[in-house]
Amino acid sequence: MSASDELLRANEEYAGTFELGDLPRPPAKRLAIVTCMDARIFPSRAFGLKAGDAHIIRNAGGRAKDALRSLIISERLQGTAEIAVIHHTDCGLLTINNQDFQARLKEELGADAGDIDFLPFTDVEESVREDIRFLISCPLIPAHVVVRGFVYDVQDGRLKEVQLEYAGESQEISRVAQ
Ligand code: ZN
Repeated sequence: MSASDELLRANEEYAGTFELGDLPRPPAKRLAIVTCMDARIFPSRAFGLKAGDAHIIRNAGGRAKDALRSLIISERLQGTAEIAVIHHTDCGLLTINNQDFQARLKEELGADAGDIDFLPFTDVEESVREDIRFLISCPLIPAHVVVRGFVYDVQDGRLKEVQLEYAGESQEISRVAQ
């Protein structure tokens, strides 16, 4: 049985007692989480979320740039007022750099990924700061949207907030962006 077959089987059981059909579309907490696709992160349990609470946007690394399309839609169409960027320890993106990975794809697949930025990083707290800076300086995310960043530790399950370098940096960035 393939993993997708298992998924179908599990869903049949789930749908048998389903009671969430009347949830409204906008997330109740007006929150969007951007986090990594890493299979060890289990957002609903780790962050205390119920169905309908939050948008959870996942990609390799949990990079904000890669999630921008969804974040704009989340804010404009569904009233999201807060964004939490959550990167994590032991992330796969800590193990690659663009140049080597592009060369590997060329060699293994004969395909050119030269114009894809895989958004790797070497320091997980710094990648969170980079994403906070990116979002608060992005003109497509209005200034009233609260942006905070965190690192999730896959070893002990703890979430730790990451601050920008110094107090006032966020105001400076948004001022520069305007
Ligand atoms: Zn990751």
